[in-house]
Amino acid sequence: MNIITPKIVVIGGGAGGLELVTQLGHKLGKKKQADILLIDKNRTHIWKPLLHEVATGSIDSDLDGVVYSAHAAQHHYHFQLGEFDNIDQKTKTITLAALYDESGHTILPERHVHYDHLVIAIGSISNDFNTPGVKENCYFLDSTQQAQRFQHSLLDGFTRLHQDDNQQQALNIAIVGGGATGVELSAELYHVSNLLKLYGLTNMSPKRLHIHLIEAGPRILPALPERIASSAKRELLKLGVHVREHTQVKEATKYGFITKDDEQIEADIMVWAAGVKAPDFIKDLGVFELTSNNQIRVNKFLQSTVDDRIFVLGDCCAFTQTDGKQVPPRAQSAHQMAKCVEKNLCTRQKTKKLTKDKA
Ligand SMILES: Cc1cc2nc3c(=O)[nH]c(=O)nc-3n(C[C@H](O)[C@H](O)[C@H](O)COP(=O)(O)OP(=O)(O)OC[C@H]3O[C@@H](n4cnc5c(N)ncnc54)[C@H](O)[C@@H]3O)c2cc1C
Repeated sequence: MNIITPKIVVIGGGAGGLELVTQLGHKLGKKKQADILLIDKNRTHIWKPLLHEVATGSIDSDLDGVVYSAHAAQHHYHFQLGEFDNIDQKTKTITLAALYDESGHTILPERHVHYDHLVIAIGSISNDFNTPGVKENCYFLDSTQQAQRFQHSLLDGFTRLHQDDNQQQALNIAIVGGGATGVELSAELYHVSNLLKLYGLTNMSPKRLHIHLIEAGPRILPALPERIASSAKRELLKLGVHVREHTQVKEATKYGFITKDDEQIEADIMVWAAGVKAPDFIKDLGVFELTSNNQIRVNKFLQSTVDDRIFVLGDCCAFTQTDGKQVPPRAQSAHQMAKCVEKNLCTRQKTKKLTKDKA
């Protein structure tokens, strides 16, 4: 077994993790005060808040991504491709699953990586709340690959419609979840449908796009002040989006969504963006104290409540503020948590204690 021994291992090079390794690389890695290792299951970082633009084809993930290995070389940290799937706290070792190519040939075998300090920053995935039919029939926007799959389906839909001279025919897209993802995606889809003529789909216009944005709660953007949510709703309605508040979905089928009141909302393309949870395997590890969304509970230093050598940040972290509210899963929160963990790790490196830690 090949065991390497970096001191600070960060799993997940997303909004929080990439910022953290970049800062640690310059503060500790450059002066050889610590080895910083970033592990990610992808070779390239794409800023997740831009995934709805990848989905609509407004940006090209190949051009807008950051290649981890090149970034690591410039910022004094190391990068290892791998998917974290287990941990042994006693030996301070994590396991990275074997990696296979599309034909099933091994690219990398299972590996074990030792850490002195570990930072878990693996983000979140969509939460379908076990709603029947969602996994089988909906697109999610959790990763670049998923956003690209949605984009292919969208282009196929637009191309099909372009061939059809009947202007009454439209592409129906239903999006569940009136949070930032659903709202941004709805608006971006109209923006793209406006541009299609420039790309040769002369038969297309925004009028041939029907979008239903479905929200179970009383209003879209529930995490934002009411003034902003109302103004966003006004703009969406102006574009032509059917904003459906107070509408709970109980099932997804091949033909669309079925609401709690048994109404069928027909759709050619369905998207599920109704909340997030940390990946399910975290629960299977049986190590951490978790919320019902699999988020790892931490103390005020962002150390996991079960092991002070393991820090957690971003969407997979459950941090309760002094007012009792949980920090929301946002890029802004991941950024602030990355800053906090960076300061704490630098302090630890100097003093070997956490007494001066930033909470
Ligand atoms: C379409 C969309 C729009 C959004 N818009 C906004 C917005 O406008 N404003 C805002 O504040 N937030 C927005 N968000 C939310 C924001 O993207 C997240 O809150 C933020 O990215 C969380 O950062 P993170 O570092 O915790 O995780 P992520 O940025 O998701 O990064 C997680 C990283 O971990 C890696 N990873 C996952 N599992 C493993 C594993 N087992 N092993 C190794 N690596 C792993 C992933 O490859 C990824 O690189 C949006 C999200 C989406 C999907």
